[in-house]
Amino acid sequence: MTLVTAQQERLPVLANVTLHGEQLYWSMHSAKSRDKLYQELIEVRDSLELKTDELTLLSRLDPLTNLLNRRAASADIRKLLDQVNRKFVPVSFLLIDIDFFKDINDKHGHDVGDEVIVLLSKTLKSATRKTDVVARWGGEEFLIVLYNSTQDNARLYCKYLHERIAELRYSRADRITVSIGVTQIPMSQHDTVLQVETLIKEADDALYQAKDDGRNRTIFHTDKHAKI
Ligand code: GH3
Ligand code: MG
Ligand code: MG
Repeated sequence: MTLVTAQQERLPVLANVTLHGEQLYWSMHSAKSRDKLYQELIEVRDSLELKTDELTLLSRLDPLTNLLNRRAASADIRKLLDQVNRKFVPVSFLLIDIDFFKDINDKHGHDVGDEVIVLLSKTLKSATRKTDVVARWGGEEFLIVLYNSTQDNARLYCKYLHERIAELRYSRADRITVSIGVTQIPMSQHDTVLQVETLIKEADDALYQAKDDGRNRTIFHTDKHAKI
């Protein structure tokens, strides 16, 4: 029970009451310290929950770029594919790889290489919507999953990305270009776990073709010779 004192202070109390025939025997004890302990317990639990949320968020991010890491992106893509399986929405997968990145490291050092990766990451993030997935897939390779994007949308989008990347300026490194491999989710649906890997493999094959064709271009898996 909570009693209110004459000074309007709230006082938590524990009451023991025994019924003995017609008589009630009762005693009351202040429960101030017990309530304080309980309150502290709740505060500790809340702060632990907050810390767990922070750690979960941190474990999903790549520390250099703050983009999703590969594991978190894979998990998010599986969720996205589950949604797409229920109601078909066109989705495009873009694997983006910086051209001749090793030369930047060799010429200007690893720190300048890192700066290039960070600036490109910011550009990719700012060029996508909340519903898209943007991840650092590997060293100088990025994955963008465009939600509700047809092949035509993806074509225009990649053209726009090449243009934006061409405008980027770095403190010491030269201008950079990227190669992009693209694939789409097929209308017929399969096992989602298998599908992520299949889609990435298709995008990777297209990316390989883009490199082979001379870099600084986009190649679609379905259309390996159409250059943008
Ligand atoms: P290509 O056009 O064929 O993609 O050539 P490339 O030089 O970009 O590709 P390659 O795979 O030969 O080299 C990639 C380099 O990226 C090698 C690796 O040391 C470097 N790298 C990977 N991760 C990081 C990073 O986090 N920071 C820096 N600075 N370099 C990285
Ligand atoms: Mg590269
Ligand atoms: Mg690479």
